[in-house]
Amino acid sequence: MASGSNSLMWFRKGLRIHDNPALEYAAKGSDFLYPVFVIDPHYMEPDPNAFSPGSKLAGLNRIRFLLESLEDLDLNLKKLGSRLLVLRGEPGEVLCRCLKEWSIKKLCFEFDTEPYYRALDDKVKKYATSAGIEIFSPVSHTLFNPADIIQKNGGRPPLSYQSFVKLAGEPSWASSLVSTELSWLPSVGSLGNCAISEVPSIKELGYEETQEDDRTPFKGGESEGLRRLRESIANKEWVANFEKPKGDPSSFLKPATTVLSPYLKFGCLSSRYFYQCIQDVQRNVKRHTAPPVSLLGQLLWRDFFYTVAFSTPNFDQMKENRICKQIPWKNDEGLLGAWRDARTGFPWIDAIMVQLRKWGWMHHLARHCVACFLTRGDLFVHWEKGRDVFERLLIDSDWSINNANWLWLSCSSFFYQYNRIYSPISFGKKYDPNGNFIRHFLPILKDMPREYIYEPWTAPLSIQVKAKCIIGKDYPKPVVDHDLASKECKQMLHEAYELNKRLNGKVSEEDLKSLR
Ligand code: FAD
Repeated sequence: MASGSNSLMWFRKGLRIHDNPALEYAAKGSDFLYPVFVIDPHYMEPDPNAFSPGSKLAGLNRIRFLLESLEDLDLNLKKLGSRLLVLRGEPGEVLCRCLKEWSIKKLCFEFDTEPYYRALDDKVKKYATSAGIEIFSPVSHTLFNPADIIQKNGGRPPLSYQSFVKLAGEPSWASSLVSTELSWLPSVGSLGNCAISEVPSIKELGYEETQEDDRTPFKGGESEGLRRLRESIANKEWVANFEKPKGDPSSFLKPATTVLSPYLKFGCLSSRYFYQCIQDVQRNVKRHTAPPVSLLGQLLWRDFFYTVAFSTPNFDQMKENRICKQIPWKNDEGLLGAWRDARTGFPWIDAIMVQLRKWGWMHHLARHCVACFLTRGDLFVHWEKGRDVFERLLIDSDWSINNANWLWLSCSSFFYQYNRIYSPISFGKKYDPNGNFIRHFLPILKDMPREYIYEPWTAPLSIQVKAKCIIGKDYPKPVVDHDLASKECKQMLHEAYELNKRLNGKVSEEDLKSLR
């Protein structure tokens, strides 16, 4: 096969045309360009034993979101005279085969900080280097290069948001606009013996389609991500006054935040372009909020967590994670199952868990409430167990951000005020006294009178009969007494913190057993 100057653009995240430096570089001076996405069976094949429809690693909502994003990418590539080449198999092996078959001279892909991609990329880079292939792997998933921040901090990650922001400063690219348009791409060359397909449907992957009611309302893809972004920033006053954690977590018809996280997760939306759009709004208003609470501040949270996750060994576990407090969490499958399957008997908690299963997205404070409840607030179950459930069901599931927030919410790292607990009864009531959020996601409680909607077990039997919801039969009794459970949790945390202090963080499994 004629080799000319063939390039391969390997899409993983970064499923977009706009602000995609790897794609731009791949196109430059190339006779032929091969835009590739590899479907990894490990990630995409149905797992009949999983607790919800989906593969071993991802729920069906996220798989669907990814397929929609790939379809959109294919469409956008076609508009530029190209197309997406979909292949299946172990990504490292498939890619090396393609590099050989298509006589590739230039391999381009976005740099990724996650351990899974770092191991995969090392393997592919080793092969490419030995074959004399040029590699271009720019940082474009985050605002900053985490390695730069860590270097500025003497080789260690900053462990507070404030120190991160100080070190990071203004991104170097912020004063010149990132590229938002490509007008043309080189065509795809001969495909040789590589088995290429179109983007498969859910059914073609071997899944039964779920009912409409169980599908996330958020559609994947760059086009939808950009449309949502434009819709959000069109409301300049809203952007200027954005202030988290203010905002109503129970507002589901019109979420209180942008719902751009799934688009950022898959890179359908560039965080750098998002940043510049917010900056543009801020320049044109008299006053605006500032980090950490502003919208721009939210993007900095994302980069902060990416930086810490990138440079902390064993970031996704308690053991041998030097920034994580060692706590004697319970291993209670019954309580975990009740939480995961929305059967805790606390309607606010259960409704959020139904939203997670059906939508794959919840408001930030809603995530706070259920994560606190599972861990240090009530059930004292290990944060890694809750992390796994989120990791599977969220459509924005992101290795760095998810782990970081579970560390935070369980008071294992970053945040240590374990006496501050979210009440599973009064917190939601503050925002939504009528319980509309609960009525929507838990229709079994839709006729429960307002005064009992957050504590239906306190309703007299006659009221339960009238509401067609008998507690203990149609809807569970609470799995714990919140006042008692939260008191016990605080005590356990207190003892664990003392132990961590006494042993200077070097806590063994035996030491933890002594607290159980
Ligand atoms: P907006 O408020 O509109 O913010 C814009 C963007 O800023 C978000 O899309 C996100 O990329 C970023 N951002 C906002 N808040 C945070 C935060 N606390 N940490 C890091 N980045 C942030 N977010 C994920 O993207 N993936 C996850 O897997 C994830 N897991 C979480 C687990 C727990 C236990 C908790 C408490 C939070 C988690 N978050 C996660 C963070 C946060 O809840 C979501 O990013 C946010 O709710 C997404 O909604 P949005 O796009 O409307 O956010």
